[in-house]
Amino acid sequence: SNKEKDAEATCPIQVVVRCRPCNEREKVEGILSFPSRREISVSHRNSRQSKTYTFDQVYSPDANQIDIFDTTVKPIVCEVMQGFNCTIFAYGQTGTGKTYTMEGAARPDQVNLSQGLPKDAGIIPRAVDQIFHMLSKQSEYTVSVSFLELYNENLRDLLADKENQTNLRVLDDANHGTNIQGMEEVPVLTPSDVFRELSKGLQHRQVAETKMNATSSRSHSIFTIIIRTKEPTPGGEDLCRIGKLNLVDLAGSENVGKSGVKDTKLQEAKNINKSLVALGRVINALVEKSSGNHVPYRESKLTRILRDSLGGHTKTCIIATVSPSSCSYDETNSTLDYASKAK
Ligand code: ADP
Ligand code: MG
Repeated sequence: SNKEKDAEATCPIQVVVRCRPCNEREKVEGILSFPSRREISVSHRNSRQSKTYTFDQVYSPDANQIDIFDTTVKPIVCEVMQGFNCTIFAYGQTGTGKTYTMEGAARPDQVNLSQGLPKDAGIIPRAVDQIFHMLSKQSEYTVSVSFLELYNENLRDLLADKENQTNLRVLDDANHGTNIQGMEEVPVLTPSDVFRELSKGLQHRQVAETKMNATSSRSHSIFTIIIRTKEPTPGGEDLCRIGKLNLVDLAGSENVGKSGVKDTKLQEAKNINKSLVALGRVINALVEKSSGNHVPYRESKLTRILRDSLGGHTKTCIIATVSPSSCSYDETNSTLDYASKAK
């Protein structure tokens, strides 16, 4: 109906769930079922009770990378091309497919574009491909990328050549946006340029991780594509647009709870907690959207960095990833709870 369409058009936050297939170690105990394209049911292995959650879209283990891109991501990329700031988050327990969904299985620098995208390429390479495809019809444009990692509330520039680009400062600017001091915004001309930057950043991330004996499951990564276009109008003036797409692979959601932090230094655990919890609060405030509602952007670095892309004329999508295994019963419930609060 029209009313539904209006609600969809004005709701800035879309929440989808993706359940990955079983791996070899997991036996199927059937704790999850998918009653419809928008529903997921969780039943406890020891009881007949089940709980059904409804989202904008639920992807069962059969869904592939193309399904997710075409249904959920493509419309968002189109918004970015129209000059909107949009963000796609992958949220979920470690091992449930956040990185697979965002990046895919192949390393980005191993993608040979002359052979087309590999079947398991994730959102980032597919979005890049679509953006350059759409830009080929534009007369004048520039594209640039940045890549940040947030670990323990410490912000690192993954594209900086110098290794000491850590602890970047986040400064507020006059337009309710933020300015990240010293951050590289690298101009790119082709998809291959983007994939090269992406792999460079991922490599930096891995080196730093090894050095600090850390794991990426405790850090957030934020890959941003900025598109500026200029087109002549019949009136003779140029129409300039700037759109931004943030692709965020969040720290494992197990870091929110008490589990998984036993072997972490307390401060680190608290800080990881901080950005994920603050993101939840910001999203809840945006969803409730009662006018004058205070949106607590300032509570964490993550929400400060993304401030100009959350709320207002923006689009946000949360992809909550879950495992099909009964061993993950508690984590799956907690992920679905977090995600349904964003609705
Ligand atoms: P996370 O980033 O959430 O910790 P990963 O993306 O690393 O999880 O996924 C864990 C493992 O499961 C990887 O080996 C990944 O390739 C595999 N995997 C995740 N999702 C899927 C999927 N939808 N289809 C096939 N394999 C998947
Ligand atoms: Mg990961």
